[in-house]
Amino acid sequence: MKRTSLLLAVSLIAAACSSGGVQPPTQGAIVSKAVQAAGGADRLASVKTVSAKGTMKQWEPEQSAAAGGEMRFANESTFETVADVGTGATRTDWVKKFAYPAPRTFTFTEIVTPDAGYVAGIDSNGRTKQSLDSNPPAHAMSGLRLAATQRELMRGSPVFLLDMAKSADRVTVVPDVTVGGVAYPAVNYRVGPHAFTVLFDRGTGLPARVRTLDYDNVWGDVTFDLALSDWQTVDGVRVPMTRTYELNGRKVAEITLTEVKVNAPIAADRLAIPAAFKTGAAKPATSAVPYQWVLRRQFIGTYLDSDSTSYDTKASPGLRLVEVAPGVQHVVGGSHNSLVVEMSDHLIVFDAPVSDAQSKWVLDALKAKYPNKPVKYLVLTHHHMDHAGGLRAYAAQGAAIVVGQGTGAHYKRVLAAPATRNPDLAVRDLSKTEIIEVVDKRVLGDGRREVHAYVIAPNPHADGLLIGFIPDARLGFVTDIWTPGPPLPDKLNPNMAALVAGVKKAGISPQKFAGGHGGVADYAPLAALEGK
Ligand SMILES: [Zn+2]
Repeated sequence: MKRTSLLLAVSLIAAACSSGGVQPPTQGAIVSKAVQAAGGADRLASVKTVSAKGTMKQWEPEQSAAAGGEMRFANESTFETVADVGTGATRTDWVKKFAYPAPRTFTFTEIVTPDAGYVAGIDSNGRTKQSLDSNPPAHAMSGLRLAATQRELMRGSPVFLLDMAKSADRVTVVPDVTVGGVAYPAVNYRVGPHAFTVLFDRGTGLPARVRTLDYDNVWGDVTFDLALSDWQTVDGVRVPMTRTYELNGRKVAEITLTEVKVNAPIAADRLAIPAAFKTGAAKPATSAVPYQWVLRRQFIGTYLDSDSTSYDTKASPGLRLVEVAPGVQHVVGGSHNSLVVEMSDHLIVFDAPVSDAQSKWVLDALKAKYPNKPVKYLVLTHHHMDHAGGLRAYAAQGAAIVVGQGTGAHYKRVLAAPATRNPDLAVRDLSKTEIIEVVDKRVLGDGRREVHAYVIAPNPHADGLLIGFIPDARLGFVTDIWTPGPPLPDKLNPNMAALVAGVKKAGISPQKFAGGHGGVADYAPLAALEGK
């Protein structure tokens, strides 16, 4: 979200250059007024570089403790950014201090040009093979991230308003847009794969908000606004020092500029992507960019920078089914897993991670393997966007959704929300989907095999979190409170302790657990850490 930092400084410049364009009167009037308000055409046209320093805070609504509850504070960061208006290249140096999912600091640099993106340093726990193989760590951005980053830059870049003024065929005056009881004059603007609605302040003429209509894998159709405020004059140019991102009206990011400079020289090499990373770097994706996934996984420092949202295209051949017990398939190969249990005439699936695209892969694979066994139940271990965001594909095939105590109403709202922009699934009414809320324990059986779901309470991760258990295989399924596979610590962390206490309370004796992340591991070594 960083480059939004220089947004306005730059965007106003753009407007300046636009004064020669021929527009229908209304558009022209709106743009001219903005240009005048921002410092005037001549002043703005003279801006060649913009440098800024600032701070940013971000919050993630769909990693909350309670389903539909208070957002998780994600990170507090500082940045320095420079932009060359002529070449469209931007560099941002970041120090991001994350609070969630665990405290850590990532210090890294992003360079974005019109046709490639580059990250120097470690910016995520979900590192790609290229990042892991590079010394020092670095990688080329995926086409998805590049497109999403460019969009956020574009919300106020020089090219944005300049192009807007010149491109009457891609600018449409729309009826006033009301936000917070205020009606704003507005235009729609399409550029490449991106579509913006720009809202202008009726009094000052300055842009007040730049909106996109996004798809959120939990809430479906959402508005994503950048609200601009605290305007100050920097070298004759009006600059909004505060920029706030709102997702469906809730503040999810706040950027505060502490220093802005115009036309400070930038050494060319600061904006150059090293040849080793530029060669073969992905071009910006041109369609079906899951903007909210790409941007918000970065909020919490877990984004996997790949052109598949499910797996690292340079390290994994893709998703696959691995039989971990008779009639039990672990869906692996990506960053997030599901578990599938074969019953006599149907299937039970645990978790629907990432997207409906991933869910559709799983459903297709299951249709091929178990042709006459539909998925009757989708058990969601918890409501977080990365493990539940593919629920609609299952609901669309008629599966009932099995969820933890206290979360049923949340899922009812989610499935009733409009989802017309879902890139992976055709629109259909899912509001009648059966939702089964598990209070303490639920047994799903067919007379031969049982599958259990237990609420793990309390736990630090998500209220109402469920684990799965298949008694005949003595196999459990656990997501996020333990990742089976990686070496165990010396003592239980609070999440692991919650699992161990929950297993004891349930009175079950799992031999192994399969994970929503990781693989399959013996349970006894974890349980043995209790009391240490
Ligand atoms: Zn989670």
